[in-house]
Amino acid sequence: MTKSQEIINQTEQYGAPNYKPLPVVISEAEGVWVKDPEGNKYLDMLSAYSAVNQGHRHPKIIQALKDQADKLTLTSRAFHSDRLGPWYEKVCRLAGKEMVLPMNTGAEAVETAIKAARRWSYDVKGVADNKAEIIAMNQNFHGRTLAAVSLSSEAEYRRGYGPLLDGIKLVDFGDIEQIREAVTENTAAILLEPIQGEAGINIPPEGFLKAVRELCDEQNILFIADEIQAGLGRSGKMFATDWDDVKPDMYILGKALGGGVFPISCIVADKEVLEVFNPGSHGSTFGGNPLACAVSEAALDVLIDENLVERSLELGDYFKGELEKIDSPLIKEVRGRGLFIGVDLTESARPYCEELKNLGILCKETHDTVIRFAPPLIISQEDLDWALEKVKQVLSK
Ligand code: PLP
Repeated sequence: MTKSQEIINQTEQYGAPNYKPLPVVISEAEGVWVKDPEGNKYLDMLSAYSAVNQGHRHPKIIQALKDQADKLTLTSRAFHSDRLGPWYEKVCRLAGKEMVLPMNTGAEAVETAIKAARRWSYDVKGVADNKAEIIAMNQNFHGRTLAAVSLSSEAEYRRGYGPLLDGIKLVDFGDIEQIREAVTENTAAILLEPIQGEAGINIPPEGFLKAVRELCDEQNILFIADEIQAGLGRSGKMFATDWDDVKPDMYILGKALGGGVFPISCIVADKEVLEVFNPGSHGSTFGGNPLACAVSEAALDVLIDENLVERSLELGDYFKGELEKIDSPLIKEVRGRGLFIGVDLTESARPYCEELKNLGILCKETHDTVIRFAPPLIISQEDLDWALEKVKQVLSK
């Protein structure tokens, strides 16, 4: 039995079966390439769901991790750390907002966003107690906590977890009229992914985000953009909301914020929103810890210093264009922005992902028929061309 098979068996024997990974074990990684214990190399075209935008083990991020690990790793928020303030300022400047609230995972940041929106609606907007409503989109993905699955339209994400959160209305992504009809005097926030990732790289119709912005201004509603997957360069802009030239009232960030090295997430908004929190109202032992902040500062520097946003736009245009040229009855549609691309097939995508794995490319199906291509943004054109050949080989049947 191979080492990989031994590890898969052990993982399946002792681990709860809440995932169905491709049968490949990764034991080493560098840049865009990963290796299994047998020494086989694969091109990573998933980037840990866009957490590794900067590439695996980016030397500057790893150096920041090591340097910080030698000094200070955790204070909790009972005391100040010398890393938190500088990181706050960097994130605020990047987002053009006034304040940050740090957490660890994406789902926690989504929880935080919902808490902030509800409190804001009571304390600032004047919604009656316990009446706040959040409008979210069908087919959204905001994570796996109870609040996040309460937002979901996916039966399997919710089944058996009730009672779930009240005060949520779901509408179709991209349909501004449905949103308008769902708004009441109790609407606290409209929460959406500016590009729906898990749903299969769904791009909103042109002008939709702008229309949401206008509606929020008109009705005194918070516009919350979950940019956990689509943000930080993935879509070819720093934030996917930039595609419509709009600024939400709140960004939710995660994944690549920690450069694929250390978990860190946050919400970023103006004072009017984040000052609804007071000591004791929210928190996290590890949220904003010095190790995470040091890593995140380096991760953001790499994103900017290496022009990864621009690379994503250019290489994404190229890759998408080439994918569109593949003449195959299997391909229903190619969708994407930047290096955030979905190839929607006429049948289940899983066997094709398995075939690609056998040819040395790691990608994962999403929502059954879509192959998501989201390589690290540092990928070279040469590596993309190599991948294209394999993709053509697998999809041109
Ligand atoms: N929001 C979006 C848009 C995501 O894509 C994800 C993860 O895929 C999450 C939230 C949840 O993040 P995490 O898995 O870090 O909790």
